[in-house]
Amino acid sequence: MATGGTGIAQTPAPSAANPYARDAKQPVDEAYTKKMKEYTTAPYFTSPLVDYLPASKTVPTPVAVLKDVAGAPGILPYSHEVYQYMRMVEKASPRVKVFSIGKTEEGREMIAVAVSSEANLAKLDANRANLAKLADPRTIRLDDAEADRLVAASTPIYYITGTIHSPETGAPTALMELVYRLAVDESPYIQKIRNKVITLVTPIVEVDGRDRHVDVYRWHLANPNKNWPGTLYWGKYVAHDNNRDAMGLTLALTRNVLNTYVDWHAQVLHDLHESVPYLYDNTVGDGPYNAWIDPILTSEWQMIGWHNVNEMTKFGMPGVFTHGTFDTWSPGYLMFIAAMHNGISRLYETFGNGGADTLDRSLTPSQTSRTWYRQNPPLPKTKWSQRNNNNYEQTGLLVSLNQFADNAQYFLKNFYLKGKRSILKPKTEGPAAYVFSADDPRPGPQADLLRILQLQKVEIARATRPFTVTVPTKRRPAKQLTNDNAAGGRGLSVADDRDGQQDTQRGEGGQRRAESVMESRTFPTGSYIVRMDQPYSRVADALLDYQYWAPDDPQRQPYDDTGWTFPELFNVKATRVTDANVLDAAVEPVKGDVKAIGGVTGTGSVYLVNHNADPALMTLRYRLKDAKFDVAEEPFEAAGLQFNRGSFIIHDVAAGDLNKAASELGLKVTALSSTPSVKTHGARAARIALMHTWISTQDEGWWRQTLDFRGVPYAYISTQTVSKDPDLKSKYDVILFPPVGRASGQLIVSGTPMYGNPIPWKTTELTPNIGKEDSTDDIRPGLGWEGLVHLQKFVRDGGVLIAVDDTAEFVAQFGFTPGVSTTPSPRLKVVGTVLRSKLVDGASPIAYGYGEDLSIYADNPPAFAVSATVGGRGARRGGDGSTQRATGRGTPDDPDVAQGFAPSQALPEEPRVEPWQYAPVTDEQRRNATNLIPPAQRPRVVLRYSDARDLLVSGLLDGGADLAQRPMVVDVPVDKGHVIMFSNNPIWRGETQGSYFLVFNAILNHDNLNAGRKLDEK
Ligand SMILES: [Zn+2]
Repeated sequence: MATGGTGIAQTPAPSAANPYARDAKQPVDEAYTKKMKEYTTAPYFTSPLVDYLPASKTVPTPVAVLKDVAGAPGILPYSHEVYQYMRMVEKASPRVKVFSIGKTEEGREMIAVAVSSEANLAKLDANRANLAKLADPRTIRLDDAEADRLVAASTPIYYITGTIHSPETGAPTALMELVYRLAVDESPYIQKIRNKVITLVTPIVEVDGRDRHVDVYRWHLANPNKNWPGTLYWGKYVAHDNNRDAMGLTLALTRNVLNTYVDWHAQVLHDLHESVPYLYDNTVGDGPYNAWIDPILTSEWQMIGWHNVNEMTKFGMPGVFTHGTFDTWSPGYLMFIAAMHNGISRLYETFGNGGADTLDRSLTPSQTSRTWYRQNPPLPKTKWSQRNNNNYEQTGLLVSLNQFADNAQYFLKNFYLKGKRSILKPKTEGPAAYVFSADDPRPGPQADLLRILQLQKVEIARATRPFTVTVPTKRRPAKQLTNDNAAGGRGLSVADDRDGQQDTQRGEGGQRRAESVMESRTFPTGSYIVRMDQPYSRVADALLDYQYWAPDDPQRQPYDDTGWTFPELFNVKATRVTDANVLDAAVEPVKGDVKAIGGVTGTGSVYLVNHNADPALMTLRYRLKDAKFDVAEEPFEAAGLQFNRGSFIIHDVAAGDLNKAASELGLKVTALSSTPSVKTHGARAARIALMHTWISTQDEGWWRQTLDFRGVPYAYISTQTVSKDPDLKSKYDVILFPPVGRASGQLIVSGTPMYGNPIPWKTTELTPNIGKEDSTDDIRPGLGWEGLVHLQKFVRDGGVLIAVDDTAEFVAQFGFTPGVSTTPSPRLKVVGTVLRSKLVDGASPIAYGYGEDLSIYADNPPAFAVSATVGGRGARRGGDGSTQRATGRGTPDDPDVAQGFAPSQALPEEPRVEPWQYAPVTDEQRRNATNLIPPAQRPRVVLRYSDARDLLVSGLLDGGADLAQRPMVVDVPVDKGHVIMFSNNPIWRGETQGSYFLVFNAILNHDNLNAGRKLDEK
């Protein structure tokens, strides 16, 4: 501390000894400061940076809107109140400017607040022009001397984002007060930040969810002794996964933050969360680190994270640490927008109470243990307040801003260097480019993928002439990494090592990898080239490349998906090219959105559309819902073109309407004067319901979003709706039951325990923002036994029920799907992994438009087994699931022979039964066959998981033998209807376009799912 004999510095003076001291000449807002102190539950839960509030004659404090101080108990402002305050400060201070950065799905505004000195704000545009050159070093011909001149003349931008996760409530008030301090405080510490840094603040990222959560909190305050609902809906579509959208960019909030971050050319994106006591600075985090980021960034993380811990430790604040168990592998987090665009990503977890109540909190030993990286851990018992949380958030941010102010030019130079190294990628680690061929059979999904790269600010070029490059063809077989976990993907395993030396073949990117043979390949005019000699090459490389997570990685608990390879999940071919000649191909830059070319050619009133599993086909069906759509049950040829099974034959449509829709959707349509001769069935626009639980709406949100984006109408119903409706079939043809998220079947039926009070989710005067998506007087009841009966009746009446992952286990558990069971797979580890599947029954309408292989997304998937008998466990003859022959003479494939006995004729050979098949029915089973499923009702396996050695495409796979060759998509006929079970999750985070049509096919062919089926004879 500073001067004075009492030990209490009444008016500390700034000095080298106390760099944190306030300006003695500036008065303190005594009333505000008194309240802050009152709401802080212990003296060590604050710091000299935030334990006072400077007074201002002109700028209002947060009291102006909150009627109390930031972090006061019982006060959570709505978004409009937070914005009102920011605009009051803007009006009162030349050091603050508010920018509108876009709207949410529900039309609420998002803002960014810039705070800096008057001088810095006056030259924002000039500064932005400088930063733009540093961000794209091509503009200064990679001239380091010019970069140094720009660095010296520029002010860095530090972007802070709050409350993406709605129950993490503290950031808005912390950021209101932070903006006030940065605008008003004359202490040397704050002045330096103001003069050397532009602080940019988005106080609320998930604005829709914030307003809903404030509603819930208000209900809780108004009903003090009652149980209250969790915030079931955050954004319009998803809850916590709003922080997993930075790859697919499907949400408005992600795109708005990305555009702000990149357009401002900010150096840091610092995202505020609240789930760990008291401040876990995830800046350092834990391994494995993402493999595509610049190592300059990873060392910046260490500098910044440990500095943060060091400074806050000096303030005597307990529980501040930066190393922890969250890996930094997936680039899906909001903060990773910075990491993928040459900036610095940061994330805080402070401690929050889910609202603004002051509470006694008990922590677990794992949270309070003293470890090497947490020498000053949180306390086992704490009275914790929102004010404490606001103190920690603001102190950490000020420490960070101060470090940035002290090192502004250092970090700006790094920013430039990371951009320059991204541009030099083809010459260093590679690759040189990714190529998307103009002859891809799926131009629509190809354009979908490339548009995501464009949203990521990646430049796309189009070849104006054919070009030839060398590409790898085949590799020496890779050595198995574990007994059942051969490497899939692309040569990512260590090659066979015959002479005790590591394979020194330097393949793509100079990495050690399996031997590959190079061949020339020519790509046609119009092929797309994603060149790696551009500033944001890293995000393209990270999304397009393959991931490999070693089963024995020291990190035992991946925090999120381990694989995401976009071309695989979009079912689109991308070629990774290391040959630098690709950069000499004649190209033009793509201006505007990449779009597949569509429209009608030919003449006549019969229209053909090839089925290539492009999701736009589904949009076409619903856009022209009054037209007559037939689908071909076999491939055929017409007008000199090949058409796949499932191709559309459209009648009764106005040519102009069809041409307009096909052009907009990028679908090629061929007009003919007569109907081709091929077996068809009708494809009515099915009436769809999407059923949700009141337990969690997170994972089904991705399904709703996909249906909305693709223009597919549906009724949104809950398990409670179903429990009350005995005649579902009169309203719906198809009920989708997407994953609930690790829910047991019993939980789906029972719902939340019925102790205590009813818990409503509905729009009221007190809660105007909730209950719009769906509403109920009491969220507790589940599907119930009546609901089970109603769902089964729906299927028996001819309805189609689609169940996925945990809901597929649910339908198996409750007897919807005779002949399908799930088998335990204790050794299996699939954590958000891309796996390979194989077509089993190409004549099934569910498989229309697909080829032999399909990469899919799965996360801890159920392993199915099928049987021709009710209660059968599937797999091999004999029913024990064994794949081994009995002990005896000969090799593993030989028949055994009894000694001394010669049968009169050769014994019949045991039929080989694969893990995705059921065993043929035996004579024994047919006698008094009460359990025997009639042939037409037996499960029909449409796709299966691939063989163990090529099951893995991308990510983590361990114990893959438990899943290999198992059924993946099973169509179970039940009376007049069907239950369709998915082990994979075909609709996930806007990243799995390639598997959407498995669901869409089931919908389009809902009343003809038995097409092409070959029945067993008996
Ligand atoms: Zn969070």
